[in-house]
Amino acid sequence: MTKSFADLALRPEVLKSLSAAGFEKPFPIQELVIPIALTGVDLIGQAKTGTGKTLGFGLPIVNSVKAIGVIQALVVVPTRELGVQVAEELEKIGSDLSVASVYGGRAIEPQIAQLNEGVDILVATPGRLLDLHRQKALDLSTVQQLVLDEADEMLDLGFLPDVEKIFSLTPNRTQTMLFSATMPGDVVVLARKFLNQPTHIRAQEEDSGAVVKNISQFIYRTHALDKAEIVSRILRAE
Ligand code: ADP
Repeated sequence: MTKSFADLALRPEVLKSLSAAGFEKPFPIQELVIPIALTGVDLIGQAKTGTGKTLGFGLPIVNSVKAIGVIQALVVVPTRELGVQVAEELEKIGSDLSVASVYGGRAIEPQIAQLNEGVDILVATPGRLLDLHRQKALDLSTVQQLVLDEADEMLDLGFLPDVEKIFSLTPNRTQTMLFSATMPGDVVVLARKFLNQPTHIRAQEEDSGAVVKNISQFIYRTHALDKAEIVSRILRAE
């Protein structure tokens, strides 16, 4: 029988936010990852997009972070879109905490202002995170939990030097969690270099693509300038 979230040794406040957000029972990857992550060890979570990785690392983070306005957990993501999505999910389950997301392609000043107000959990893309650090807008030495989400995607986008820098800027890390849909050589090398005897967790799966089976993917090729129009037509279509 599938466990319920209440079987997972989470704080009562976290369980309350989960049910308020409408989450009833853990998805398989969450059931596997959460008990191990709660012990504080490093881990590699291998699971496809859409399987629920965010709560897999999000719940253990929210369970230990305190509302003190100091960055205790840092989630590094490859893209702005994923960052926004992850931050929204973390806000749902950590309603008493201050969650911020910073990413490129937007003015940096409002992000600096938000950081100055005090942040407990920061979600960031690598480039903007390092920019903010160079501008002395944030201190990463307080980070205890570091998550690399979609690590394979991050390295595909050429972020390896930035990611290595982020590791060196977080020397007081006590737990590192790396999530990736696939485990190509460069991700394995990265994990060997920076994770401490990680537990490798893999959600059971028969097919080997990076996306869950019940999602059908369609590709529409379009000029960059037509993208918004195409997306809006798709959304309006039956
Ligand atoms: P991934 O990070 O693996 O791509 P997400 O964490 O974004 O996947 O989860 C996919 C979707 O499933 C999200 O909309 C999320 O809110 C929802 N979800 C995640 N965990 C649960 C759960 N235990 N019960 C119900 N819905 C969930």
